[in-house]
Amino acid sequence: MSLQGKTAVITGSNSGIGLGIAREMARAGADVVLNSYTDSDEDHALAASIAEEFGVSARYISADMSNGEACRELITKAGDCDILINNAGIQHVAPVDQFPTGKWDAIIAINMNSNFHTMAAALPKMREKGWGRIVNIASAHGLTASPYKAAYVAAKHGVVGMTKTVALETAEEPITCNAICPGYVLTPLVEAQIPDTMKEYNMSREDVVKNVLLKRQPSKEFATVEQLGGTTVFLCSDAAAQITGTTLSVDGGWTAL
Ligand code: NAD
Repeated sequence: MSLQGKTAVITGSNSGIGLGIAREMARAGADVVLNSYTDSDEDHALAASIAEEFGVSARYISADMSNGEACRELITKAGDCDILINNAGIQHVAPVDQFPTGKWDAIIAINMNSNFHTMAAALPKMREKGWGRIVNIASAHGLTASPYKAAYVAAKHGVVGMTKTVALETAEEPITCNAICPGYVLTPLVEAQIPDTMKEYNMSREDVVKNVLLKRQPSKEFATVEQLGGTTVFLCSDAAAQITGTTLSVDGGWTAL
């Protein structure tokens, strides 16, 4: 599978799943644009290391995905955007009556609204080239709920709905729009939930992983960032040209329960 000649923009890709996807895109030959809200030497060095390892062009463009204008500017600055991966995301866990409004707003903006802005900016570029792939990284929480994650679950359900709508709007064009719904993947976003959960349930780290995080993941294994990257590359391939408006679960059986 070669994505040579294509440029992939991956939001929130200096860590975790986004970085894993960027690496698999580059391995498949795509030029990549990495992104986060920071603008450090490490961010640019990360892009340079991907360029060197895979022999592709790789750039890092700083843009805050909580800001609609910045989302659109990212796509403008990227130049080509044949493949758009909306991956940036944050989490906050609290009962709905204690959920801080600022956290609600940030999660809705970064996890959901950013997808609207980047897709709106990228679609004209895809139409001009006569080819495009959009992959939105939703979540098992885009299909099902858990307590204390009202903002995240709302945002991810919104992403799934938006994905279906954009797929219908582009159905007669050589553009597809799909969502991937990962179960638990051990990334900094999930790591950050472990200490609080250990405290809340008075459990060891091992017990939290097995009995809380992976409780609903029947495989009892985390999905990996490489698997998410491979699934994304597949959705960009010719084999997936008729796959649009759907969700692909990478969740060890979670949503089969
Ligand atoms: P992560 O914390 O490792 O990565 C999140 C990325 O988003 C980072 O690169 C971070 O810098 C970036 N980001 C955060 N705020 C941003 C902002 N305002 N502007 C630009 N970039 C920003 O987490 P992850 O687990 O790799 O999560 C990536 C995506 O996968 C998220 O959308 C998350 O909801 C989704 N997801 C993760 C899991 C999991 O178990 N890890 C499961 C399902 C879905």
